[in-house]
Formats: sequence, structure tokens, C-alpha cells
Amino acid sequence: MVEDDPAVSEPLLAGLQRNGIETEHVAYASHVVAAASGVDVVLLDLGLPDGDGLDVLRELRRVSDVPVIIATARGDETDRIVGLEIGADDYVVKPYSVRELAARIRAIARRRRVDAPLASGRVVVDRNRHRVSVDGREVELTAKEFDLLAVLAEEPGRAVTRQELFSRVWDPVWIGTGKTLDVHVASLRRKLGDPSLIETVRGVGYRLAVDDA
Ligand code: CA
Repeated sequence: MVEDDPAVSEPLLAGLQRNGIETEHVAYASHVVAAASGVDVVLLDLGLPDGDGLDVLRELRRVSDVPVIIATARGDETDRIVGLEIGADDYVVKPYSVRELAARIRAIARRRRVDAPLASGRVVVDRNRHRVSVDGREVELTAKEFDLLAVLAEEPGRAVTRQELFSRVWDPVWIGTGKTLDVHVASLRRKLGDPSLIETVRGVGYRLAVDDA
């Protein structure tokens, strides 16, 4: 996140974290290129204290094809068109909702990663071909089981909250007892053939076991 206004960056950092998106924050144009190395998505403010975000984007594009979402109060069409023409992937105008932004970040990250199978060692999730295998053996899953496993497999070892699983696999505003989730996890564990592959994190949610085997 490139943002110089703490009144924007602080709630946004908290909000993205709540949505399961790990975020690093810089406030100056001159820090962007170095900070962008190794990240999945750059969220770029245009009005920065030491430069213009559009110049930052030009500079970044010379060295990197990391996806960029421009986030700015400047909603006029010229900025938007210039931003997209010089290589931004998406554009949000302030004020925007954290939830919408999180969805856009995920959509962009997903588009980029869709060809790369996710693997935790024993479990491989190929989202492109919609296939899952455990120890090289293919496993048949329902669509919801597949989506659930794909979310867990994005980052093996990360405890994914029940709330995040609900909102990403079922409905962003789903409210219920949570039984649906537990039933799907139980079924998924059975089909994967080894219940320990999906660990329960008490009071939090679930995570895919990291396995070196
Ligand atoms: Ca600004």
C-alpha cells in the first residue's frame, strides 16, 4: 500500500488484515519501486508528498510487471485513462469500501496465479484445470470443497478464519451457525484420505498443514 495520509492508511491496513490480506505500507513515491519487489499487488495512491503516483507507475513499469491498483481521490476520467494506459491493472476512486478493494485485490492476484498450481507438499490444487491430488493421486471434490481447499492452499500453514472461509466460499454476508463449513471440512478431510492435512485452529478456523514429505 502506497498512501501518505494516515487517516486513510490506518483503517485500510486494519481492514485488509481483517480480510486476510497481508499488507506492507509506504508513504513516499521514492520508496515504491524497492518495496514493490516480491509483492502480489501494489495499491497506489496518486497524490504523494514527494511525487506523482503516475510517474511512480511509469518508473515501476520499467522494472516490474507487478499488478497495480490505483487508489485515489482523483476520479476524473483523464487520470483514470492515463493510469490504465501506462499499465495500471485496475482503478478505485476514494472513498471505496475495504471489502470491495479486498475483492479486487484477490481478483487480480487470482488472475495472475491461476496457471500456477498451489501445493503444500502432499496436496496439489490446480485451479486452472480444477484438479486436486494428494500424494500424486487425483481426488474428486464437489465445487464447494474445491473452493474451500483452494483458499486454504493459497498459503499453507496460514490459519484462515471461519469468517474469511465463509465470505470467500459461500457468501460475503453469510450469517449462520457455521455448520455448513464444518460439514464441508469433514467431507474434504475424508476425501483427501488423511484428516491431519486440514488442521483445526481452535477459536480461529482452519489451515492446510505444511508438509515437507
Ligand atoms: Ca495522497
